[in-house]
Amino acid sequence: MAIYITDECINCGACEPECPNNAIYDGGIEWSYADGTGVSGVFTLVDGQDVEAEKMHAPVEDDFYFIVPDKCTECHGFHEEPQCAAVCPVDCCVPMTDYLQTMEEELESSGGFGDSAEDLKYKIQRFKDDKNLEETNERLLKKKEILHV
Ligand code: SF4
Ligand code: SF4
Repeated sequence: MAIYITDECINCGACEPECPNNAIYDGGIEWSYADGTGVSGVFTLVDGQDVEAEKMHAPVEDDFYFIVPDKCTECHGFHEEPQCAAVCPVDCCVPMTDYLQTMEEELESSGGFGDSAEDLKYKIQRFKDDKNLEETNERLLKKKEILHV
């Protein structure tokens, strides 16, 4: 699991240089697996997916700092605790498990159509098709796509 930066981020930048995996980016910045790491060419992620290390990807967030989930190891092998969370002045670096739970709760409260796991893809599509969505829901769904949940 990874650490996730919530929209309470104040863009102070304190976390970025602390990350041993170069998993943290300023909002609006494209990212790659090769950035600041030793990987190159094609390599396999822990979920078995093959990726191109140098390929550039769209930013996860445009307005505040974000963490690339597949690059974050929660600092295992480097530090005793997640360094981004340790230095963040507003405590907005939280475990992804907590965030996903929050997402589910928000979708439940704002959607109201289906709540089983097998309905999730349909539910997401319904949200995407709804042009009257509140911004927060669009952001949540973007995250869900990126995180493959
Ligand atoms: S937990 Fe560690 S590896 Fe993950 S983003 Fe924060 S500083 Fe980087
Ligand atoms: S330390 Fe916290 S508030 Fe500062 S940029 Fe990182 S996540 Fe945002």
